[in-house]
Amino acid sequence: MSTPKPVTPTITAQQQALRESLPFSDTQDFDDATRGLVARRTPNAVTNDAGEVVWDNDTYAFLDGDAPDTVNPSLWRQSQLSAIQGLFEVVPGIYQVRGMDLSNTTFVEGDEGVVVIDTLLSNETGAAALALYREHRGDRPVKAIVYTHSHADHFGGTKGFVSAEDVDSGRVKVFAPEGFVEHAVSENVYAGVAMNRRAAYMYGAALARGPQGQVGAGLGQTISTGVVSFIPPTDTISTTGHEEVVDGVRMVFQMAPGTEAPSEMLIHLPDFHALCAAEDATHTLHNLLTLRGAVVRDPHAWAHYLTETIDLFGGDIEVVFASHHWPTWGKERVVAYLQNQRDIYAYLHDQTLRLLNKGLTGPEIAEEIQLPPALENAWNARGYYGSISHNVKAIYQRYLGWFDGNPAHLWEHTPVERAKRYAKLAGGVDALVANAREAFDAGDFRWAAEAANHAVFAEPDHAAARELLADTYEQLGYGSENGTWRDFYLSGATELRDGQFGTPTETNAPDVIANLSPEMLFDAVAIQVNGPKAWDERLAIDVVVSDTDQRYRVWLANGVLSYSAAPQQGDADATITATRASLPALAAGDPAALTAAGIQVTGDASALGRLTAVLDPGDKNFAIVTP
Ligand SMILES: [Zn+2]
Repeated sequence: MSTPKPVTPTITAQQQALRESLPFSDTQDFDDATRGLVARRTPNAVTNDAGEVVWDNDTYAFLDGDAPDTVNPSLWRQSQLSAIQGLFEVVPGIYQVRGMDLSNTTFVEGDEGVVVIDTLLSNETGAAALALYREHRGDRPVKAIVYTHSHADHFGGTKGFVSAEDVDSGRVKVFAPEGFVEHAVSENVYAGVAMNRRAAYMYGAALARGPQGQVGAGLGQTISTGVVSFIPPTDTISTTGHEEVVDGVRMVFQMAPGTEAPSEMLIHLPDFHALCAAEDATHTLHNLLTLRGAVVRDPHAWAHYLTETIDLFGGDIEVVFASHHWPTWGKERVVAYLQNQRDIYAYLHDQTLRLLNKGLTGPEIAEEIQLPPALENAWNARGYYGSISHNVKAIYQRYLGWFDGNPAHLWEHTPVERAKRYAKLAGGVDALVANAREAFDAGDFRWAAEAANHAVFAEPDHAAARELLADTYEQLGYGSENGTWRDFYLSGATELRDGQFGTPTETNAPDVIANLSPEMLFDAVAIQVNGPKAWDERLAIDVVVSDTDQRYRVWLANGVLSYSAAPQQGDADATITATRASLPALAAGDPAALTAAGIQVTGDASALGRLTAVLDPGDKNFAIVTP
């Protein structure tokens, strides 16, 4: 591994300016993040069955004292807060384990057992969190699991808390918002390969921890790398105001679809005067478009639902907690916090629309937009995970799309072709690198990145271009207040210097694949069809799902795999008979996997082989910072 380079004076000056402008003397968040500590888990490494470390919060012990100049002081502060780990009492009867994954898990105690809200990302960290809770609060049985939303860091650890058998037998209920399964599964499967590869950049999983490496992801420290599990809900919640009582725990739900996740809900716990804000109010400006990639979110709906939250519950709640970060206590502070969170999304939404209606484009609005001082100086509205810059562009994208209306941008050359022409314009790659070097020395890292990126795309083996681009990304990383920006920049620098690190964490886990509906499964196969290779292939396969009595015709024509549950004309080449549980073997694209799963094939079995032959799976190690 190459060694990181020192910080430049430009970045040092930028860090100093921020130290002077932000209210660092306000340490209320530190009081809140440590309040109610029951016990720390020491040491806090979690290993899997093979003895491999899947989580190690202790690697953040360096986050002590003042920020070094290689870390933005505001991000350093946020990371110090996020790294605080242990079991905490929120109010008597409600406990949280924090600092044991990207997300939190919350325990609400009932008459004899406990209701668990969100289960972390992997079974190993989930089991460790439950063990820590039980060590200090007794061996209470889990009576119910509640998933606040459809992101994997809130359901992936469920099998660390309960078994599928506990749920199947009816001993444990599992609640989730409407649309949960569809979104949880689809988000991780359709564009899963690309999202997971980009998530490796976003969370800095492959980076060394330390003042010149990964310091945190803004929303939490990083993601655990254990096994992601999936247990589908037994009960779906679809109405605001709906109440459930489990083991004496009263829960009143507020639906918030299309906010931070397509399927999401908040939970009011009236007997505790507490609100679980899911992930709709956290101690950061959240993402309207996460850098790993996703469907763009709706800031207008987000703000609207937080207004509704205040209207419905604001008069009652003494504490608000979420599935990330630390709680906020006191009725007035709770409402002020929810108002801030609401206003930041509303402001970005409204101001972006105001400015785009004057003809400004996303990058222009991102530079132009200014926050009111009250939001600018509110720690919980700072951009540690989302950022003003990329959220504004996301809003532009949501309303107007990728095209800014300028015909020069309608039909641009590809990055490599543009790069070659920029190199020619500069008088060769060496001259382009010299121009980038000049910008680097002047502290204009944004231009240095653009020029050096063109140089690398024009000539990927140009050593000086690669080195300068890596050095530039590194300085941009050191300066970033946003944890995911820092991770992206430092990951780019690392791959330029040391080669590609692939995809360390995958959320398209077998448990998730196993819950694909037959239709989603066919979609998952269809997106792997190599179009040109399949142009001349024609085949039809009947799929019979014996235990659910479903029947589909799946056919390949014109390079497209289509399907229908309606009766189709003519005979299929072959018929596959599977169960709901064995059907996912189809996604493996391998006839041997079908046999192993006990799937029967009748008719012309070669049709399956012909289908397999045109499947073209994604590349978990695709290039990002090089062509
Ligand atoms: Zn989350």
